Order: sequence, then C-alpha cells, then structure tokens
Amino acid sequence: MGLVTLTGLVLSSSDVGEFDKRLVILTKESGKVTAFAKGARRPNNPLIAACSPFCFGTFDAFEGRNSYHVSKANISNYFRDLVMDYDKVCLGSYFLEVANFLAVDGADERLRLALLYQSLRALESGKFSHRLLKNIYDLKTWVIDGEYPNVFSCMKCGSKENLTAFSVKHHGMLCDKCENLEAGIKISTSTLYAMQFIVSSSIEKLYTFVLNGETEEELTRILDAYRLNYRSHKYKSEEFL
Ligand SMILES: [Zn+2]
Repeated sequence: MGLVTLTGLVLSSSDVGEFDKRLVILTKESGKVTAFAKGARRPNNPLIAACSPFCFGTFDAFEGRNSYHVSKANISNYFRDLVMDYDKVCLGSYFLEVANFLAVDGADERLRLALLYQSLRALESGKFSHRLLKNIYDLKTWVIDGEYPNVFSCMKCGSKENLTAFSVKHHGMLCDKCENLEAGIKISTSTLYAMQFIVSSSIEKLYTFVLNGETEEELTRILDAYRLNYRSHKYKSEEFL
C-alpha cells in the first residue's frame, strides 16, 4: 500500500459501516476511483467536509488492490454557492451522474474531469440557462467519448457548404442538395455554428457564449432527437430536471 496524492472531484458519497464513507472520485491521475474515508462520520473528523459530492481538491490516499483509503484531503473548491441552490444541485447532480456512469476505472479521464469542473463553474455562475448548460455538457461528453454527430460536412456528399438540415439517422448534417432526399430537421446557421463551436472548442473556452431563445430551442430540439435515438440510458437525476 503506497501513499499517493490524487487530484479530483467527488462524484458520490455513501455511508458504510457505523462511521465510514465510501466515495467515488473522478481523478486526474487514475480516472474514476473508489475511496474509503475511515471515521469520516465521527464528529469533528477532519475528513467530514471533504466527503460530499462536488468537493474538488487533493486527496492523500493509500492505494489498495481495488480501492483507496483517504488519509487527508485538501479541498480547494466546495462549490458552496451551487450546493445552496436547489435547481443548481439538480443539474449539477445530473452532471455528476453522467460522469460517474461513463468514466472508466483507471482510464485517462482528464478531459471528462475538466469538462465536469468547467460545467459546474458555469452552472454556479448563474450566467447561463440550465437548458443551454445541459446541451453543451451532453454534446461535449459525446465528443469526449468519440461518438457524436458530424456538424462540419454533409453526411451524403461530403460538401462543407450550405449545410441546412440535421439528420438523426445519418449522425449529422445534410447540405441543401441532399436535404430533399432524406428527412432532416431544418437547422439555422446560428444553431449550426453553436454546435460546431461546442464540438471543436477547447474545454476552457466552452462556456463563453449564450444563445437567443429561438436558437437555444432549436439546439435543444436537435439534441433531444439525437438523445432519443442514441442515448438510451436513463439517469435518475434527470427526473428532477
Ligand atoms: Zn450533400
């Protein structure tokens, strides 16, 4: 059992035994890990505050065969304003649940961790509609996992110009010449640009735009249709959105 320092965000926390906590942490170093915090529920235990979902920081832990044992935590962001707001907690919990479901133990999950962190910061800031945040988070998650619609060229002829419709069936855009042949959803240039930006932007720059109501609605309609066809997993936290 070696002592390691993990940088990560607590995805979930549950009680075990009389005084302990079991955490799932998304880490920079080892992907998704399970970590036990012994005695964390005893009064005045220094680990108490660090054992809640949304806590981000460093965790000193002993590495066991399948899990870690946390000995010390240094939390740099508790997302305090977020956890005080019921609606933000609902969407934030959805972000955590999606990351928890898709992250792989021991894999390189640095991009997912960065996306999760930036998304929670954007949510906490209150500057973005929750609908837009969810759309950005979901689409970028699909990009990270390598399964996302092609928004840069026509799926039928490869043309990069006059992309006017979105086809769920073809996983992406159709140009004005191919559009008539296949049932596609009409898409405005602003919605197309928004999708192109989300797909290609770095995670640090992802939350630097807002959309007008009409564009936001169109983006939602398109991504909902895509979810319906390709993302069958039902997240528990989605019921509260
Ligand atoms: Zn075409």
